[in-house]
Amino acid sequence: MRAVPGGKVIVLDPGHNGGNASHPAEINKLVPAGRGRMKPCNTTGTATNAGYPEHAFTWDLAIRVRDELTAHGVQVVLTRPNDTGVGPCVDQRAAIGNNSGAAAVVSLHADGSTTAGAHGFHVAYSSPPLNAAQGEPSTRLARTVRDAMVAGGLVTSNYIGSQGLSPRDDLGGLNLSTLPIVLVECGNMRDANEASALSSAAGRQRYADAITNGILGYLG
Ligand SMILES: [Zn+2]
Repeated sequence: MRAVPGGKVIVLDPGHNGGNASHPAEINKLVPAGRGRMKPCNTTGTATNAGYPEHAFTWDLAIRVRDELTAHGVQVVLTRPNDTGVGPCVDQRAAIGNNSGAAAVVSLHADGSTTAGAHGFHVAYSSPPLNAAQGEPSTRLARTVRDAMVAGGLVTSNYIGSQGLSPRDDLGGLNLSTLPIVLVECGNMRDANEASALSSAAGRQRYADAITNGILGYLG
């Protein structure tokens, strides 16, 4: 799907996929990840201690954000069609974004830190930027989404980055993007309090509302 004249398109990239864990050969295959590096095609993602998987969280969240953006007249392209497939590889996900004609790409994840007390969200962006889109537009998108999440009552990470923002040079999806892009780590699935929020429909709706507000704020 390409942007219609005057229309706005956003790519949502729900991290991981439901079939990844049962297809190790496919997802462990090395693919280009930017900055001259190779990385596995995709990973299984994390889970709460009770077994709620990150791929299910990111899929549910993406659908909630998609539906809210659509209600605001924004076209949404997803990098995967369901939560039962394998991959796509990080370079394929980036290509879907780059070919979409979208204003920006938002990749959705949750973290799995086993450090006691580690909690909170952070928004990652490519640094140092590899093209103009990864520069000011991406850092502005990161700040706008961060601010909307704080306004939504969500707390910034106490273990990664600073004030909810994390510059990264090692994330393939960010490195390979020719569009403004951020990756949102919504919370720590291994933290008991955040696990209950991430595992509940009401909790996910709160994340969806905040992220949607951030995207709409970026689109202006
Ligand atoms: Zn993830």
